[in-house]
Amino acid sequence: MSAQPTQTEQPATDYSFDESEFWRTIPAWQNVDAETFGNFRWQQQNSVTSVPGIQGVLQDLATPSLIADIEAGLLKTPMNVRLTPYVFSRINWEDAAADPVRRQFLPLGSEFIPDHPHAMDDSLDEDGHKATPFLTHRYPDKALFLPITLCPVYCSFCTRSRVVGGSTAVKSKSTYGAKSGEWDATFEYIRNSPQLEDVVISGGDALLLRPDQIRQIGTTLLEIPTVRRIRFATKGVAIMPMKFTSDTEWMDALAAVCRLGQARMKEVALHTHFNTEQEITAWTANAMKALSEIGVRVRNQSVLINGANNSFGCLRRTTKKLSSLLIQPYYLYLHDMVPGCEHLRTTVRVAETLSRRLQGATAGFNTPRVVCDAPGGGGKREISSYTLYDEESGVSAWTSPTAKPGEMFFYYDPIQCLPSGGSGLWMNKAEITKRLAKFKAEATAKAEATRV
Ligand code: SF4
Repeated sequence: MSAQPTQTEQPATDYSFDESEFWRTIPAWQNVDAETFGNFRWQQQNSVTSVPGIQGVLQDLATPSLIADIEAGLLKTPMNVRLTPYVFSRINWEDAAADPVRRQFLPLGSEFIPDHPHAMDDSLDEDGHKATPFLTHRYPDKALFLPITLCPVYCSFCTRSRVVGGSTAVKSKSTYGAKSGEWDATFEYIRNSPQLEDVVISGGDALLLRPDQIRQIGTTLLEIPTVRRIRFATKGVAIMPMKFTSDTEWMDALAAVCRLGQARMKEVALHTHFNTEQEITAWTANAMKALSEIGVRVRNQSVLINGANNSFGCLRRTTKKLSSLLIQPYYLYLHDMVPGCEHLRTTVRVAETLSRRLQGATAGFNTPRVVCDAPGGGGKREISSYTLYDEESGVSAWTSPTAKPGEMFFYYDPIQCLPSGGSGLWMNKAEITKRLAKFKAEATAKAEATRV
């Protein structure tokens, strides 16, 4: 007699990654062989950056209604279109409207809903903590270096939509490329700030830094005695994994930085950004093999995206598959309160529920920490650590006693996700003002009473 499954049993994870030539389902690429597809230069040169570009590669797969919906979306989004052929062909174009990868990169006009009244261009107040034009210093021992504001793809939900990528119909930006001659003041600031132990090199995307720039940044930072760890942030592993197997010059530069890190007993990490299992294939496994060989630690930071990965099953499978490739799940962020992506946000309660379910699904060190990056610069807070949460109006209060003692930060759930009664509250200005004032007073009193 076979044993009965117990309640704690979960289905075994399927660790076979897509080895097919999946890109050949895209009409323009049906004759592209694996060697060509696996070349980072071909990926860059064939990235899709416009509606005519989408039509050109999709041909008969591009229905007039889908194209009209994409065109309508581009009139409303602060982000430009850019998809590598790799990620473009991970989309199921037969049902693009429902596809979780399409949803992240190509907003449809029909999906947009008005921004929350408390949405902010710079929701994390990074600009308010600028120490130099390229450096945000918000936490005591950590700084964020932004040497470039360009990326190999553009995500609809980007937290830096105010600066990343070019201007759009609704947002003008001062985008900048990597100019190594302008970074001296930033290095000098870090040198003169001995409390800074961690430096994140982000953007934009470190993938677009030239090999000499990877060496320059890595070497300069690692040679500062007080810097203990550096991390290059790139979505590359998720959207152009062939960069790590075909750009030998770039990998040589990263390997040299890793060797210096080992010699100095300092960590060199690469932080990447997968949101769904659909982005993981045999190409990812090959990229990770190459990255593992040079000794770089790889971690993943996901965003919780309504309609893309907001289910336990998806998060569990993505988490386990990433772990199996030595990509450590690190953070799962509640979506930041930035404009143009309200349809992609979800509530604190949903994030909290998913966090509870994820705990115990796999080893603790491979379980992402679900966090709210508290708007206004409070930093990453564990999702269940709010001081107070009014689920009806959707407001939650957060403190950050170490990074920002004495301050309180507020996050607002998307109005369309509020329980009945909540959306009505937001339509009545006097009513919501009164409710928020009462909430803030209660949250402040509670924070005072529980201060440690
Ligand atoms: S890759 Fe990162 S920085 Fe670039 S658009 Fe996407 S989320 Fe923003």
